[in-house]
Amino acid sequence: MSDKTYLEWPFFDARHAALERELDAWAARHVGQQHEADVDAACRQLVRQLGEGGWLHHAIAGAEGAGIDTRAICLIRETLARHNGLADFAFAMQGLGSGAISLHGTAAQRDAYLPRVARGEAIAAFALSEPQAGSDVAAMQCAAVQDGDHYVLNGEKTWISNGGIADFYVVFARTGEQPGARGISAFIVDADTPGFEIAERIQVIAPHPLARLVFRDCRIPATQRIGAAGQGFKVAMSTLDVFRTSVAAAALGFARRALDEALAHATQRKMFGQVLSDFQMTQAKLAQMATGIDAAALLTYRAAWQRDQGRNVTKEAAMAKMTATETAQQVIDAALQMFGGLGVVSEQPVERLYREIRALRIYEGATEVQQLIIARELLRAATTKEA
Ligand SMILES: Cc1cc2nc3c(=O)[nH]c(=O)nc-3n(C[C@H](O)[C@H](O)[C@H](O)COP(=O)(O)OP(=O)(O)OC[C@H]3O[C@@H](n4cnc5c(N)ncnc54)[C@H](O)[C@@H]3O)c2cc1C
Repeated sequence: MSDKTYLEWPFFDARHAALERELDAWAARHVGQQHEADVDAACRQLVRQLGEGGWLHHAIAGAEGAGIDTRAICLIRETLARHNGLADFAFAMQGLGSGAISLHGTAAQRDAYLPRVARGEAIAAFALSEPQAGSDVAAMQCAAVQDGDHYVLNGEKTWISNGGIADFYVVFARTGEQPGARGISAFIVDADTPGFEIAERIQVIAPHPLARLVFRDCRIPATQRIGAAGQGFKVAMSTLDVFRTSVAAAALGFARRALDEALAHATQRKMFGQVLSDFQMTQAKLAQMATGIDAAALLTYRAAWQRDQGRNVTKEAAMAKMTATETAQQVIDAALQMFGGLGVVSEQPVERLYREIRALRIYEGATEVQQLIIARELLRAATTKEA
């Protein structure tokens, strides 16, 4: 059982601790650690369950335009990740996939999509990456050309989570108002739009729906554009500012679960006339794991709190994402090592965690990209001060 004293940290309001307790109890009843033979069906079911449970309301901005509660999103992801990686994924993608609509959508767009997302009736996806534009997002080639009151979309997107099961995709495409990042716009593309197709499903080490998408003369009403023409990069980055911090929270959930599993195992595994946790080398590992988790949690909830204060969090979100994902990888690896041979048996909790954590160090900006962001913000502040 995880130590929950962090819920008393000053970053949280009383409602946050209550939310975590309620979700923890709900997740214990509704989502297990079972192997999902059909990942699409499992994901659809989890989205429905999360909708029925009322949890997806937290993934979108409120009906009256109330802002996104980043701390609530982070606590939900952390708690779900502790129980089941796919449940966390299902929640996160409803938020990331609809985040641009929550933050920048018109009233009509919000009404058309957000209530269905919150009820778990429409599955959302976020389509930014391309085969030649991953870390270097501004190199994207997918293009949208205006034709009267429509845009015509041509190109490819890849690594798109929920690709194949989503009902709509928020797609970023080059509209060419200005060169590079200033000539990109965001669009909502319904899955049944002619000219849109799933070109390939991609299998990864921790299975979840993932696909490469193709657009061929795909006509989208101009009313489906999110935000102003040419502002798509800003739309994408502001969405990522919320959800990048929540990736850190998911990593924390995986790490906390690994520490729980390690403690349970080390205190009962007999060897050399003692138990594993009697050895100082084990104790040193446990101390390192717990300290790493707290350090990552402090950075994560600092970023979430700061965003909820309406302040810029580009640097803080990058610090949180980098630290939490890298720390979680180390914590999970240490936990797996304590399990010995049992640690690498398929579908053991630590084996699942070992596979689940890996992609988090890559998506929504690899660790190296977070380092660049942090340094850029530091240098900008330093040179502004000098000027
Ligand atoms: C499981 C999974 C789910 C995903 N879901 C989505 C999704 O829903 N929507 C979406 O749009 N995208 C998604 N992505 C894509 C993801 O965001 C990209 O994979 C990521 O941005 C990296 O891009 P890339 O794979 O092209 O790697 P590359 O850009 O080729 O980078 C390769 C590696 O180079 C290193 N690197 C990058 N920049 C630098 C640098 N400046 N200096 C030194 N080293 C550097 C990093 O280690 C990086 O991992 C997903 C990816 C995965 C694996």
